[in-house]
Amino acid sequence: MKALIVGGGIIGGSIAWRLAAEGVAVTVFERGRLGLEASWAAAGILAPQAEAEGPGPILDICLRGREAFERIVERLRRESGVDPEYDQAGILYCALDADEQRQLEGRARWQRSAGLGGEVEELDGAAARRIEPMLSQEVCYALHLPTNRRVENRKLTQAYIAAALKAGAEFRESSGVAEIIARNSNHPGVRLDDGSTHEADFVINAAGAWAARIRGLEADRIAIRPVRGQIVCFQGRPAMLGPAIFSLRGYLVPRRDGRVLAGSTMEDAGFDRSVTMAGMGRIVAGANALIPALSGLAFREAWAGFRPATDDKLPILGPSTVHPHVLYATAHFRSGILLSAITGEVIADLVKGRKPSFDLTPYSPRRFSRGESR
Ligand SMILES: Cc1cc2nc3c(=O)[nH]c(=O)nc-3n(C[C@H](O)[C@H](O)[C@H](O)COP(=O)(O)OP(=O)(O)OC[C@H]3O[C@@H](n4cnc5c(N)ncnc54)[C@H](O)[C@@H]3O)c2cc1C
Repeated sequence: MKALIVGGGIIGGSIAWRLAAEGVAVTVFERGRLGLEASWAAAGILAPQAEAEGPGPILDICLRGREAFERIVERLRRESGVDPEYDQAGILYCALDADEQRQLEGRARWQRSAGLGGEVEELDGAAARRIEPMLSQEVCYALHLPTNRRVENRKLTQAYIAAALKAGAEFRESSGVAEIIARNSNHPGVRLDDGSTHEADFVINAAGAWAARIRGLEADRIAIRPVRGQIVCFQGRPAMLGPAIFSLRGYLVPRRDGRVLAGSTMEDAGFDRSVTMAGMGRIVAGANALIPALSGLAFREAWAGFRPATDDKLPILGPSTVHPHVLYATAHFRSGILLSAITGEVIADLVKGRKPSFDLTPYSPRRFSRGESR
């Protein structure tokens, strides 16, 4: 069996690994260089309880995503030889005033009623500072989410790609796909920007924020837009911060090498990848409010990336209406790092003709042609 994957980000890499490990002949076409778009720009937080706004399909898939990740992380490390720096120090989601506290108390309530009571702990400011002593004295309340974790997403992306290569997958850089050839054909295929065509048993569209721009699948009426996120990176010391620090004003994520990532913005700016004064200003103000003691850290770099977003904020997973062997694996919005393992798992199930372990209906591409996505 042969599969072509469009897009060499974390999603294309994860799918390539799972398929190649099951003996499928995989070729990944990447327009630029592997893993240098959203999967490079992300903060690497694996945070179902900080991302979802209530019970429903996004919380469901994020929780499954975390379980799927835990199931594969050791195997991935072994097979790839790359350590994705999976850190289990949890998240402190902090409130800096009474209004923010009310919003977070609401979050704790819905999480308890969704059965997550054992995974969310309400703390006053002093108790939060016992977990992270550098927190501002202004922090008056926090949710401790001990089972929400983090990785070094650039290394995790490399790990999937390295493991896929070892399992026999082929990755072609500088190979943009202009069209997915799906009509009037038993076997779907792709036409590259250079005009060459390639055929397979399955084609998987994992082109992130660009997935709806590839020709050939117009009848699916998929709508994906880029949501720009900026991150400002400072140089700290290793182990300076324990947990990742969240707030309604932004977040701080430590890396093992001492870098501290401050994020992020959510902007409709098309594919403009500028880092702006306003964006950096908001991020830095949020970071200073949470941990004023970090204000002396040296600036290192800043970047922006494009989260692939749908109107209903759900990923798109499953067969195209145009051809049953063209599969979408995209629109992971703010959670594509968290959802990388579960996406590889369900796409491998679909290619191999197995029933996925959960109902994919809420994430089906069909919701667009039925007009249900808005
Ligand atoms: C600032 C920021 C912070 C984030 N933080 C987190 C986080 O903490 N946790 C989390 O889980 N998620 C986070 N995300 C979201 C996460 O980064 C994305 O959901 C995820 O990276 C999407 O992966 P992808 O492989 O689909 O997309 P990408 O990494 O964008 O990869 C898509 C690839 O497809 C290629 N491509 C596009 N068109 C074509 C074509 N026609 N032919 C060939 N190749 C093509 C692109 O060049 C690209 O390499 C964040 C995102 C941003 C921007």
